[in-house]
Amino acid sequence: MDKAAMYDLSYGLYVLTAKEGDKDNGCIINTAVQVTTTPNRITIAINKQNYTHDMILRTGLFNVSMISEKAVFPLFERFGFQSGKDVDKFDGFQCPASENGIKYVPEGVSSYISCKVVSQMDLGTHTLFLADVTDGVKLSKDAPMTYAYYHKNIKPKPVQPSKPGGYRCKICGYIYEGEPLPEDFICPICKHGAIDFEKIV
Ligand code: FE
Repeated sequence: MDKAAMYDLSYGLYVLTAKEGDKDNGCIINTAVQVTTTPNRITIAINKQNYTHDMILRTGLFNVSMISEKAVFPLFERFGFQSGKDVDKFDGFQCPASENGIKYVPEGVSSYISCKVVSQMDLGTHTLFLADVTDGVKLSKDAPMTYAYYHKNIKPKPVQPSKPGGYRCKICGYIYEGEPLPEDFICPICKHGAIDFEKIV
């Protein structure tokens, strides 16, 4: 199995937001796919480690803001590199709410949609949610950002390690200086696992 074959699957990037009581939260996902047009339904797969996951499990409601090519790296740091368990991700970041009361990201996105969960499947590390799209608003004509665009243009260029060897997180650039990289290693910055690290040569 050549793992590089998997890199040719194309993805978009999205801010997934939910609300539970007074708590607003959101995270970055790359797994939103329209699966049927009639009815208009999407699936999202979300890692159980995300606090947003638990909120959606309990409330059955979420918004998906489609990140555009105008988005800047701090948007990914805000929603992707910290946990809603520890911080208020909307602190100092004004976001309006849509009709369902859930916030959406108004800048650096091309559209947002509102969704209601129809069913879910336990995938082990993730939960797959199937959801009805209940509303959608076009916010700009900017092109939606693909995962490939993010890696090429948005992600900070890798820093050189202080000594030879080690592993670099392909998501955020964090460097693990050591050998070997533990199989259960979790990136301290972006929380992705060892599978998303590459050996520095
Ligand atoms: Fe990382």
